[in-house]
Amino acid sequence: MSKELVVVNGTVFDPMNDIAGEKLDLFIRDGKIVSSVSKKARTINASGQTVMPGGVDLHSHIAGSKVNSGRLLRPEDHRKDIEFRTRKTHSGVGYSIPSTRTTGYRYARMGYTTVFEPATPPLKTRHTHEELDSTPIIDKGCFPLLGNNWFVMEYLRDGKMEECAAYVAWMLKATKGYAIKIVDPGGVEAWGWGKFLRYLDDPVVHFGITPREIVRGLCKVNRMLNLPHPIHVHTNNLGNPGNYLTTIETMDAVRDLANEKRPAIHITHVQFTGFAGSSWLNLRSGAPEIADYVNKHRHVSVDLGQVIFGDTTTMTADGPFQYFLHKLSGNKWVNMDVEAETGSGIVPFEYKRGNYVNAIQWGIGLELALLVDDPWRVFMTTDHPNGGPFASYPKVIAWLMSRKAREKTISKINRMAKKRLTLPSIEREYTLEEISTITRAAPAKSLGLADKGHLGVGADADIAIYNIDPARNDLEREPIRLRRAFREASFTIKDGKIVSKEGQITATPYGQTFHIESVVSSNLESSLLKDISSRFRDYYTIEIENYPIAESFIRNPSGIPCEAEV
Ligand SMILES: [Zn+2]
Repeated sequence: MSKELVVVNGTVFDPMNDIAGEKLDLFIRDGKIVSSVSKKARTINASGQTVMPGGVDLHSHIAGSKVNSGRLLRPEDHRKDIEFRTRKTHSGVGYSIPSTRTTGYRYARMGYTTVFEPATPPLKTRHTHEELDSTPIIDKGCFPLLGNNWFVMEYLRDGKMEECAAYVAWMLKATKGYAIKIVDPGGVEAWGWGKFLRYLDDPVVHFGITPREIVRGLCKVNRMLNLPHPIHVHTNNLGNPGNYLTTIETMDAVRDLANEKRPAIHITHVQFTGFAGSSWLNLRSGAPEIADYVNKHRHVSVDLGQVIFGDTTTMTADGPFQYFLHKLSGNKWVNMDVEAETGSGIVPFEYKRGNYVNAIQWGIGLELALLVDDPWRVFMTTDHPNGGPFASYPKVIAWLMSRKAREKTISKINRMAKKRLTLPSIEREYTLEEISTITRAAPAKSLGLADKGHLGVGADADIAIYNIDPARNDLEREPIRLRRAFREASFTIKDGKIVSKEGQITATPYGQTFHIESVVSSNLESSLLKDISSRFRDYYTIEIENYPIAESFIRNPSGIPCEAEV
């Protein structure tokens, strides 16, 4: 029997279909948006409420060995935030590193239905999938780390582009990954030898390849494989004053590889790589310069990595930066190594309003969002949990929509930071349409997920209904109301099923895991396998047979076929 639902009278914000605040009814059958339903359909009355597609988060560290190491490192993070068991839900814990089920519930409560884990070491991806499988409600996927991979660096150095493409295709297939993630290209490898790569043209020790060549090479590979999402890049020099230049240079390094259809590169959590100035003392925001570059060049997209004041846990495959942060803060630290090739560092951190550097960081994220003109190329993230927990998204939305909310926070931050930021003079306030763009439509488009991020016929029936009446409320004057509404959607619907109602989880289905089924020519694939299996044993301690993850290992796999050009 088909399951039918109709959402009537809501004010709909569906930017992908050019719908900005129209009163429309949505019809749902068998988990999809359809053009009509029978009279027997269950009705949800959304009068006086805002209706958006389910939220899509393309960068949130929610699963895998580094997240789990963070949980082990921080028992105090569990104690302070407890999710109680209900008839429908399991208990759970964790403020900045919630347990898997709690992660699913909290996203669903906010109206989010799709989330990507953006950094998984290939060898550890089995664990990542196990945790994603244990995260209810949301659809998901993960990005394998390839920016310091030995085979990638060797193939690119030797100009073997087709072999490199075949290798990346094999790795995506083996790990059931979704996109190419690059963290500190070449820099993690250099750090292993006690070196630091400051410039894009510094060679990686023993490999004779530069960060620029890695980024350009993998950008070309991405195109050769026709992958739906561009290369997803965490630039070199993260966390160093002056690094906004590295960010701009990295974007510019692939300018000539752009085509009109979609961006060639996504730069992630730009707040952390948007520092201008030459030291911590004269640090200032590089967001105006980065936004200016983004406004003038269509081949790039960015996400924020917005800082939230308070306690959190930082974790990244950028091991060198985490070691530095541990030294700087004196906080506890753990570094995980994976085959001496990638890994992760984890350090607890508290962002303080009164701290000059932290206040500048807070300003950089918001300036970036407010100064980039095109909301289709700037996505809202906190780089959870690095800038702050994802559960703080309603705060970020309120800052973006309400100058009053920003002024309130600005009045409490470090005075010198307030003077040096552009933020206090920015008048722009995001509209609900723009919020719908940066939190669902644009990231879904960037990920190439055709049935996500919109509410047209044929889309997945992932819907969020918020208790905000765009017609009646003076929204920008009521940031607290905005925060409350986005914290607990009136209804979250996932695949046509009501999963959350006013903060109560009502059902806990399991979503799909998206992964790329990359297809290269069979000749190329067999010569690649011959090449890597002969060398694998020399390079690594774990044998090649341990990498491939069967589809049957994943609860609800959803392979996206990708025909390569090689
Ligand atoms: Zn991240």
